[in-house]
Amino acid sequence: MNGHGPRYALGVTTAPTACPVRRIAHLDMDAFYASCELLRYPQLKGLPVVIGGGRRKEDDLLGKLQAAYPEGEWTEDSFADRLAEIPVNFFPRIEGYTGRGVITTATYAARQFGIGSAMGLMKAAKLCPQAILLPVDFERYRHYSRSFKDIITDIAPVMENRGVDEVYIDFTDVPGGQREGGRVLARLIQKCIFDATGLTCSVGVAPNKLLAKMASEFNKPNGISIVHEADLRPLIWPLACRKINGIGPKADVKLQSHGIQTIGELAAREPHWLIENFGKSHGAWLHAAAWGRDERPVETESEPVSMSRETTFERDLHAVRDRAELGAVFTRLCQQVAADLQRKGYEGRTIGIKLRYDNFQAVTRDQSLSDYTADAQRIRQVAGQTLKRVDLTRRIRLLGVRVGSLVKAGTVPAQGATYSEAIANPPPQANDHGQTQLLFFDD
Ligand SMILES: [Mg+2]
Repeated sequence: MNGHGPRYALGVTTAPTACPVRRIAHLDMDAFYASCELLRYPQLKGLPVVIGGGRRKEDDLLGKLQAAYPEGEWTEDSFADRLAEIPVNFFPRIEGYTGRGVITTATYAARQFGIGSAMGLMKAAKLCPQAILLPVDFERYRHYSRSFKDIITDIAPVMENRGVDEVYIDFTDVPGGQREGGRVLARLIQKCIFDATGLTCSVGVAPNKLLAKMASEFNKPNGISIVHEADLRPLIWPLACRKINGIGPKADVKLQSHGIQTIGELAAREPHWLIENFGKSHGAWLHAAAWGRDERPVETESEPVSMSRETTFERDLHAVRDRAELGAVFTRLCQQVAADLQRKGYEGRTIGIKLRYDNFQAVTRDQSLSDYTADAQRIRQVAGQTLKRVDLTRRIRLLGVRVGSLVKAGTVPAQGATYSEAIANPPPQANDHGQTQLLFFDD
């Protein structure tokens, strides 16, 4: 009945596939922290919700529930399973917030009131007092971060981490990665992430990272934007220069002082003029960026250089008068950094601290060990040593702990030299303020 296999017209040849066109995706999760919270509190969907402020006080919510339902419907055990049942009016509102907390993420409903990331919570409270305020839960966000990145690398293995909620992906050589300029693969990744986590993301696909990063903003949330080289003039040039990742507020002010508002206006300037006014390397970079040129590869092994944790206090603390509080925070930061290192499988040998005083002046100090560690106690000991070298008579606004010179855990064999030898020879600039010893070596 058949006898005829598929037939191909003779004489038709496919064009030799030369070097495939470079297709780079930038994937950015939509309102990531807030979206992670909405997964466990679906009753807050569509409402203005902001994430920020202090640490999680889940017990407050539990206490409220127990008071409202004394029949024991809300035991601590059942609490975690019944988060979705918590009435909306039980959640804390931002109204009347006082303190220094800053918003890390706002839901799209909250953004409609003019609320945005990095805005002070007090300001946000004025814009939208009815917004629900949830504390940050980085543990949870990191969990979802690992999940969505695992899904991506299963599909497209060349992925570069750009933080907890964004990545670059090289589509160029992925099967199907060139179809519709990358749209087909972008859609597949979006769907797989959503099916597995319930989270949405936006993807921009372009000839390079610079353009992909801009493109991922075009269709937020849950959008895909495809940018080709030919789209430079109509899509990119009308945008403000600030849309180029790498042009900060300072550079933007300077560009505007020269009458340059848009990327197109920047592209129109002669390279030598840019170099004269912005220096050799920055000027050349500005020219290339405006013309959509960027050769940076997608770097899969972007090993972290350091890991750190820091906290801004609700009120400025004094090393003597607030000794107990500072000591406890200090210990906690060290434990958090150690936990980060251990979870991600790193050890470091440069341990440092960062302080910001009440006048916003910041100082950092660090000390290197002769071997590597990810141990909380050890980090605290060494970080405590570095504290001897800063002025502790002034009030402190922020405290941070950092571990640098990282290696993958277990890749460097333990050396003969010991930690005590390393700290027995403090750097020459060591400046013992006397009271420090008492302050941070207490427990
Ligand atoms: Mg995002």
